[in-house]
Amino acid sequence: MIKYENVNVSYGKFNVLSNVSFEVRKGDFLHIVGPNGSGKTTLVKMLVGLLEPTSGIVEMRNVQTGYLPQKLNTKHNFPMTVREVIYSGFKHQKLKPSIEECELIKKWLEIMEIPQLFKESMSFLSGGQQQRVFLIRALISDPELLILDEPTSALDPSFREKFYHLLDDLHTRNKTTIIHVTHDLTDAVKDDCKIMYIDQRIKFFGLYKDFEEFEHRGHHHA
Ligand code: ADP
Repeated sequence: MIKYENVNVSYGKFNVLSNVSFEVRKGDFLHIVGPNGSGKTTLVKMLVGLLEPTSGIVEMRNVQTGYLPQKLNTKHNFPMTVREVIYSGFKHQKLKPSIEECELIKKWLEIMEIPQLFKESMSFLSGGQQQRVFLIRALISDPELLILDEPTSALDPSFREKFYHLLDDLHTRNKTTIIHVTHDLTDAVKDDCKIMYIDQRIKFFGLYKDFEEFEHRGHHHA
């Protein structure tokens, strides 16, 4: 579904990604980990047209994609309601969502435990509430590919767990391909998931069970 070939990215003289090559197949659940500033966000931005590689090739099949960016940038005067933000995640939009579309939005607000926020202005929401709204926006059109850049950073731990179950469910039941940039590889990670450990270069790419061994073996400087 996705192929990176010898991808390099630099900002001026500063090399952020060097010689990155890997593939993501349909149905993969890939967790991308690595230290702060190791290029994780840069890596996924190329999939959604926010960044071009300095050299190398990024190929991606044309599939319906849901994306949750890391920096939500919702300013205090952000002039949109929760309903409008979520509606912008639908494949097609009219001036206003239909009754059925509103019902679907409300169903998701229930799942995310914020049903009261349907008509609320985004600028009144807490960081965690905003993150839930943007998660719904990424999920609501049932994308074939889901790209999540630290989706739970503002969520409380109990909701975080629920969210990971939801992802698992999407992966097993809908066969959604998931790329998940994260800081914490929690217990939620299943053995059949793939892990990428990146620090400018790919240091590890493979199954989770082999990653545990890689971590034990003197860690990330291999
Ligand atoms: P991560 O997501 O792993 O924390 P990033 O991909 O966000 O890492 O950033 C990798 C490096 O590139 C960091 O050192 C960051 O400061 C730098 N960087 C990111 N975006 C820009 C930019 N637009 N201009 C210059 N440097 C940038």
